[in-house]
Amino acid sequence: MTPRAWALLTLGGLVVALLVAVALLVPWSRPPAPRADQLAALRDLPAEQVSRGRAFHGALRPAAWSALAVGLVVAVLLGLTPLGGRLVELVGRPFGGHWIAQAVLGGLAVMFLADLLTLPFAAWRRTVLVRYGLSTQSWGGWAVDLLKSYAVSAVIGALVLLGFYTVVRLAPRWWWAFGAAGAAALVVVLSFVLPVLVEPVFNRFTPMEPGPLRSELTAMAARDGVPVRDVLVADASRRTSAVNAYVSGLGPTRRVVVYDTLLREAEPAEVTSVVAHELGHAKDRDVWTGTVLGALGAAAAVVALYLIGSWTPLLRLAGVDSIAQPRAFPLLIALVTVAGLLATPAQALVSRRIEARADAHALALTGDPATFEAMQRRLAGVNLADPDPPRWERLWSATHPSTVERMAAARAYARESGR
Ligand SMILES: [Zn+2]
Repeated sequence: MTPRAWALLTLGGLVVALLVAVALLVPWSRPPAPRADQLAALRDLPAEQVSRGRAFHGALRPAAWSALAVGLVVAVLLGLTPLGGRLVELVGRPFGGHWIAQAVLGGLAVMFLADLLTLPFAAWRRTVLVRYGLSTQSWGGWAVDLLKSYAVSAVIGALVLLGFYTVVRLAPRWWWAFGAAGAAALVVVLSFVLPVLVEPVFNRFTPMEPGPLRSELTAMAARDGVPVRDVLVADASRRTSAVNAYVSGLGPTRRVVVYDTLLREAEPAEVTSVVAHELGHAKDRDVWTGTVLGALGAAAAVVALYLIGSWTPLLRLAGVDSIAQPRAFPLLIALVTVAGLLATPAQALVSRRIEARADAHALALTGDPATFEAMQRRLAGVNLADPDPPRWERLWSATHPSTVERMAAARAYARESGR
């Protein structure tokens, strides 16, 4: 069998494995949240809050869609014309066109060009956040955060580029197999190791002061069978007034992180409700679900890229001889960008189902739908959510059920459990 036949066989196997994982790991039966309850919940929200949330998201939309369009156009222009290949060559020229310079520096240049061209839209987004009082950061602080995130991507990007093109040189016929295994391993590393390494780059964490809330959260986690080592407070107020909480780490390193903004804005019972939702993610191993789906998807994508990348008309468009040469990196990015766009609604759907399950977990763990609903109302108010966003936008990219869906789920739970 040729490497190409093996690749086809591997791709088939990965796609089947992905479909099986999606069928088994994603909670397809969702807890009820009847539309009638959603509409009733919407009527119960203060009209001013609803219109403010809608206005905020209306103001964000042009920047978001422009950034998406520009990113796509740049990726396609660089990847499906010889322009990208020339950029890679140009960047490698001072180093005598050495493959490492082309692969790493050329690759980073392609990645950062798109970032640079969408920078005005990121700044536009920030002005909207400031206008609506959601950002508490100065332009300086915003720029520092941006540079930090560029630095993190540059380090990861350089390592991945160097690793990938080294493998391509060592195994010119079988790189796709090593690449697929490497991509899957990278997803695992990024979802478990990166949060622990990257969180401290952006935030400072301090243990929550001993008191009734800390004891309640620790006791609830133990009751839930998800023991946590510590309850930490993140200084999120340095950049945002938005509220949040999450559980990170595994087993003995597991910790609950609560934004300082949440402690300031919400009642203790509501904080408990938020943390109960996060414990649901830990208990149902949602990070594992995301990691397994992501790893299989990434491995399949690498093999698919290898197969599509041997299609001569495509190579001719990009002005390269083979998808495996550093000059073809822009073509890879273009294909990945298009595939990423196509995958967005599917990823959002999976995420919404997982979030709805964590909500159901919070309701069952606290047995307090009234507080859950009050917390949703507050979250929506503070984070300026559109409580009932347009259907197309929900289907395209919403990672969480809408505010009215979550309130309706609480009402349905209250009815069923007689609370
Ligand atoms: Zn969640």
